[in-house]
Parts: sequence; C-alpha cells; structure tokens
Amino acid sequence: MPSASNALFRKLPSIDELMRMPAIAELASQHGASVGAVTDAAREVLARLREEIATEKLRAEEVDAAVSRIVLAVQQHLRREFAPSLTRIINATGVILHTNLGRAPLSEAAIAHIGEVARGYSNLEYDIETGERGKRDVHVQGLFSRLLNVERESSYEVHTVVVNNCAAAVMLALNSLAEGGEVIVSRGELVEIGGSFRVPDVMAKSQATLREVGTTNRTRIADYEKAINEKTRLLLRVHRSNFAIVGFTEQPSLEELVALGRKHKIPVLEDLGNGALVNLEFVGVTGETGVAESIRAGVDVITYSGDKLLGGPQAGMLSGRPELIAKIRSNPMFRALRVGKLTYAALEATLMDYLRGNHDAIPALRMMRLSADEIRLRAESLSKAIGNAPRVLAGVIAGESIIGGGTAPTAVLPTFLVTLTCANLSADELLARLRSNVVPIAARVEDGRVVIDLRTVLPGQDRQIAEALAAISA
Ligand SMILES: *Cc1c(COP(=O)(O)O)cnc(C)c1O
Repeated sequence: MPSASNALFRKLPSIDELMRMPAIAELASQHGASVGAVTDAAREVLARLREEIATEKLRAEEVDAAVSRIVLAVQQHLRREFAPSLTRIINATGVILHTNLGRAPLSEAAIAHIGEVARGYSNLEYDIETGERGKRDVHVQGLFSRLLNVERESSYEVHTVVVNNCAAAVMLALNSLAEGGEVIVSRGELVEIGGSFRVPDVMAKSQATLREVGTTNRTRIADYEKAINEKTRLLLRVHRSNFAIVGFTEQPSLEELVALGRKHKIPVLEDLGNGALVNLEFVGVTGETGVAESIRAGVDVITYSGDKLLGGPQAGMLSGRPELIAKIRSNPMFRALRVGKLTYAALEATLMDYLRGNHDAIPALRMMRLSADEIRLRAESLSKAIGNAPRVLAGVIAGESIIGGGTAPTAVLPTFLVTLTCANLSADELLARLRSNVVPIAARVEDGRVVIDLRTVLPGQDRQIAEALAAISA
C-alpha cells in the first residue's frame, strides 16, 4: 500500500472511536436499532471510505470532509436499513391500473376490513354455527353469485374460487381440466400479458398440449372444429388484453364457441383477465365483455383478476359450472395457490361496495368516472399554484388517460394534463426529481415535456405535487 494513502487511512477513526461518539450512540435510540445494528452500519461506512480511498475515488483533499460527515453517513445508512422497501407513490401517470404501481388502490371499506380481520382471529376456516372446520372459499362464493346475477339468467348455478392472481387461475384451470390432453387456441390469442405471462408457456407448465388453429388475424369456428380429436379437453378463448387486431379480421363469437363445445362435450374456458363485474359503460369503458356476459353466453369456466377492472386486491378468480369448479378445487395445486385472509377481507369488502351500488367508493372506478371537466378544473388550479414557482413553467392541455392493467387496449379516457418545463432541467431530469420527492411522484413524458395527469392522483395529493414543484424550483 503506498504510504500516501496510509496517511489518509490514518485520518479515519477506528470503529471503537466511532462507537464512543455520543452522536453515534444516540442513533440506536432514534432508529429503534440495536447497538449491533449501529456497529454494523458504522463498519460498513468505514469500509466504504477505505475502499474509496484505496481506489482513489475519494481524493486526498476530500478525506477530511468525508470524515466530518461520518455520523451523517451512518445515520443515512440506518435510515435506509430501517425504512420499509415498499412505499407510497403518487401516481400522476394517468394509467389507472398501473401494474408497476400496484394496480388498483383499495376502497376504504376494504382497508378497514383488512385491519379488522388482521388484528385478531377470524372465522377464515371455521363454521361459527357448528364450531367445526369450515372452508375459506365460502366467504365470497355467495357474493360473486349475487353480483354476477346469474341464478335466473344462466344455464347453470355459478361457483367461484379464488387464487393468488389470474395467471395462477389460468394455470390451475388448464392443469385441472386438460392435463395430458389438448387445448385448442386461436393463433390470434397466443398473447403475452406482460411480466412474462405467455399463453404457450403457461400451457406447457400446466401439462396440457397447445393446439393452435387459424392465423393471427383470422380464425373461423370451422378451424376449431377441424382440430377437435379424442385428446381435446378444452376450447380456450384468451382476451386480447393489451393489443387489438384491426382490419381484415375474424374471430368466432363466444356463442359459436360454446355451441361447438356443447356439440362435442368439450368445456369452453375463457381467460378474461380484466374481469369487469358490472357493465362499465357508465364509467366510460366500452367494448369490454364482463364476467356475467360470458356466463350468459354459456362459457363453462372464466378466469379474471381481482385488481384490474374489478378494483380490488390482487387475486385470480375462477367462476363457472359447479362440477368443473369442484374439480379445480380438488386439485392439490389449488391448495398451493390459495389466498390468505387479508385477500378475502379486501375482496369481500370490495364486493360489498358493488352489492350496495357504491361504485364511487372503489377508487379505480371513481377514477374512470371522473369527467375531463372535473380534471381540467384541478389541472388549472395546480397550474396556477405552480405559477408561483420561479423556474417551472406550467400549462394545461387536453390529453388521454389510460385504463391499463391489460384492459381494453383501445380504451382511453379524455383528460386534461398539466405540462411542466423547468429551466435548467431536462424532462428526464425533472422526472427524476419528482421521483426523489419525500412521497415519490411518478409522471410521464409526452412530446419532450413532463405531463401530470390528475385523474390518478388521489384527493389531497394535488397540493403535495405543487409543493414538490415549488421545492424543485427553489
Ligand atoms: C392480466 C391478465 C392475466 C394475468 O392476470 P394477473 O392477475 O396479473 O395474474 C391473464 N390473462 C389475461 C387475459 C389478462 O388480461
């Protein structure tokens, strides 16, 4: 080791000297950390400084300043270590069901019910009347049946079970109903949903053989019929969640698919993904077939997500014919994919909001329902508030919000955007500054400018955005 850096190393305190400093001793009580954790943090900070001196990342003249900041560095290290990794974010992207930002925010009722159920014991698998062991899936079975309102209209009584997410639901359905056999799918539906959920791969893992029919843009019912053989176990329809095929296209209707399945005694499985429980035209979403519609069309099992258009917790539902749902429930894979009490609590409370017709209580639905005019008023008042920040220029323009989460690929909602330009910061730098706010703010860039869509910003957060921009501008 060269003697020059030896001299620099000697400027660093020893771990014992550091631990004797009152400011360091105080850190343990501040962070609720043990003395051991503080010692570890101090060791790490010293090791990093040594490393930076050795690699000359820290120049000789900078060492004294770094030493004077050691207590601060240990404090920052502890703060990071004792802070949760999962943290709140303000979603100003205008993407309502943003998969990277946790999809649907929960309703107040759902949050309260989680708290209630989590705080103590519950009847998760306990029959209160008999005092005997019960089943966890009874808690939402009745609610789904009532909401899907199918008792009178459909040809069968609908049963529903819940697993961890829709990907799990699809895998479980394929494995339970088609293991060792063939599943017929149109080439126009061999989709990748994102997060590497690809229909052919899921099929392979479910031990079912994919039988592709038709072409990317056109598949006829006759294509399905020709592919049917003694090994066929299912006809699968996959919702084209995140793209649309337009132009010269053809796809058999659900009714045609169901009629073909009946003729050959082969069930139809529909992976709907988005899972609208009610007709969402009243919130501005058109062109989405809901779960009830599929049941009415006679589909035998439907899989859908809890945190997409339903607006509840992450979960995957399988709704369908009692005998098929019973088969799914008896698969050992179901036990491995089942959900916990927190999910049931959130789901049940969300379904109760639906049952009461309290759609505005479900944040995702309320956000979809916000009119462009309401958003314009908020955008103008935010833009005015920002007007006081000397270096940020704000304006309001018309734009579009996206529902997201693999729903209605063509569904956009008219909105108004606050445009932001900041002297001496590029759009990407401004985005990064917004992300580094105490409560990080996620926005997007359009035409080289940062834009804020208040549709997805919760009440009360508009002001936090204004404050963040004032701080950035200062
Ligand atoms: C989103 C989606 C899935 C996956 O749902 P997760 O709940 O994210 O697992 C599967 N299929 C379709 C058609 C989807 O849209």
